[in-house]
Amino acid sequence: MKHWRIAAVDALEILDSRGHPTVLAQVTLSDGSRGGAMVPSGASTGQYEAHERRDGDANRFGGKGVSGVIESIRGDIAGVLVGMTAEQQAIDRRLCRLDGTEDKHRLGANGMLAVSLAASRALAKANGQPLWQWLAEQDPRRLPCPMMNILNGGAHAGNNLDIQEFMIVPQGLPTFSEAVRCGAEIYHALGRLLKKKGLSTAVGDEGGYAPDLPDDAAALELLCEAITVAGYSTDQVRIALDVAASEWVTADGYHLPKQGVTVSRSLLAEKWETLAQQWPLISIEDPFGDDDRLGWQQLTAKIGGSLLLVGDDLFVTQEGRLNDGIADGIANSILIKPNQVGTLSETLSTIRTAQTARYVPILSHRSGDTEDPLIADLAVAVGAPFIKTGAPCRAERTAKYNRLLAIEHALGYSADFGGSFR
Ligand code: PGA
Ligand code: ZN
Repeated sequence: MKHWRIAAVDALEILDSRGHPTVLAQVTLSDGSRGGAMVPSGASTGQYEAHERRDGDANRFGGKGVSGVIESIRGDIAGVLVGMTAEQQAIDRRLCRLDGTEDKHRLGANGMLAVSLAASRALAKANGQPLWQWLAEQDPRRLPCPMMNILNGGAHAGNNLDIQEFMIVPQGLPTFSEAVRCGAEIYHALGRLLKKKGLSTAVGDEGGYAPDLPDDAAALELLCEAITVAGYSTDQVRIALDVAASEWVTADGYHLPKQGVTVSRSLLAEKWETLAQQWPLISIEDPFGDDDRLGWQQLTAKIGGSLLLVGDDLFVTQEGRLNDGIADGIANSILIKPNQVGTLSETLSTIRTAQTARYVPILSHRSGDTEDPLIADLAVAVGAPFIKTGAPCRAERTAKYNRLLAIEHALGYSADFGGSFR
């Protein structure tokens, strides 16, 4: 294999889909191959995520500027990387060593990830491969099934729903492109239903509608209606929830801010069991807070055999937290958000650990995202059965679906579609 050196590292401050600043990094190799990458940003972030560094200068972007990160990339990071042999793990290890903190506090996980991902693109280019092939250990053929968030609530919308995401999952469709078509048709069917009922069709951060509704059951009812009206069955199209329950944790129990009620762990557990019995659910993400190991353990033992229980804030893409969960019988699936951990190598290592333990990896966007479709390539490279990247609406969300459509096209007849997970 040929080897190249890192010739240049650069970065600039750009905007994400919410209009907040974020980082674009560029890495150039000695043969002139250049890769760029943009990092996303969460709103309902987990307390154990790697540190997202911002300036805190109220005179720029309300304190959210990333000019300090840009300076670090152009200065400290370029200083240690330029001249190095371009090899992904060595680059990522060097970044972690330079940062020197447990949670990537000094350089910021946002800056480190941008450089790490930009390097991977430059390397793929130098090797003459698309990223999804370059990152794969085996011959990649599987397209992930989309989990499309078409009804938004929680911290992502100004409506009265406490559950953050209601997603449709077209797992019974034969191909990725048909799953995307199905999802888009249901999305528009839902829009028409809302209009007919005189409800708002304004959209939330991830492109899903965000109407006020009486309760969670009404939201689930609407989704099922939209699936049927669009001409599909709930066998073909299942429903996934992201509760984001860490947002509800208080000293007295779980406080659902929009409904204004506080419930105990056991009441919450009952709620999830009932919903799982009554509705065609395929998965529930973060049904409990990230420190509520007992709640997680009990629910996994009870219903983990029949649906995915996905750890997002629980695992924050970190191998150590995942290993603790595996040992304790907590959850059976992990959401993968590269910016929760801060380098590509660590992300890949967490995915491998999950796969070895038969925990289902689900690649994921963030609520504040960019037009960078990198997670689509990553999902195909590791053969993830699912990808969660918002509604089939808003360019930062469709960028990922469109990238997967292009990969499906490139794979031709050899493309596989991965909605099943057992
Ligand atoms: P976030 O939400 O990007 O705002 O953290 C996404 C999620 O919770 O899955
Ligand atoms: Zn989540």
